[in-house]
Amino acid sequence: MQDKKTLLTQINKVVNGCQNCRLWRTATNAVPGEGDPGAQVIFIGEAPGYHEDQLARPFVGRAGQLLDNLLAKAGLSREDVYITNVVKHRPPNNRGPNKDETRACLPYLLRQIQIINPKVILPLGRYALEVFIKDKPISKIHGQAFKVGERVVFPLYHPAAALRSGAVLRDLEKDFAKLPRVLKGEIKPKLLEIENKDENQLPLF
Ligand code: URA
Repeated sequence: MQDKKTLLTQINKVVNGCQNCRLWRTATNAVPGEGDPGAQVIFIGEAPGYHEDQLARPFVGRAGQLLDNLLAKAGLSREDVYITNVVKHRPPNNRGPNKDETRACLPYLLRQIQIINPKVILPLGRYALEVFIKDKPISKIHGQAFKVGERVVFPLYHPAAALRSGAVLRDLEKDFAKLPRVLKGEIKPKLLEIENKDENQLPLF
């Protein structure tokens, strides 16, 4: 069997040439994601911004610096985790990704998760949250661990939101401080009843 690094490299190549939605036309680079292929945790942001688009790396702007600081406080570094986004090309003017763009890009994220097989998935902000948990605002469920299928999902506020609000930053810091306990299984994840009534909903796994 091919190792995780090789499999992720294959995905990256496909993402780099992806034309499945409109975003590649206006982006400079694709940003597939980076980190430890054997990571226990995967952080999932919304979409690349200006700096990420320029450097083809996720979370390298101000939000990324905050993420690095929060990781360091939790005793982790970028090299210990995997970091990616829901969509892999930058939306123009930093708008949020449209549903059809998310839908087109989602197979890459799901495959990354399958290959890495992390213990804990950390959606950052509402766009990543809604891939895993429907109809629950991030403001209500951040910092709580949920069992979604066979995985633990621990939603967090997006670092960019924390840069705009001191209250959100404090919540994000508190939630991050729980991460080592979530990883050790010391915080029991809640079970979610998942109802997939709306056929426009994104697939869960
Ligand atoms: N915001 C995101 O959601 N992702 C990045 O990679 C950078 C900023």
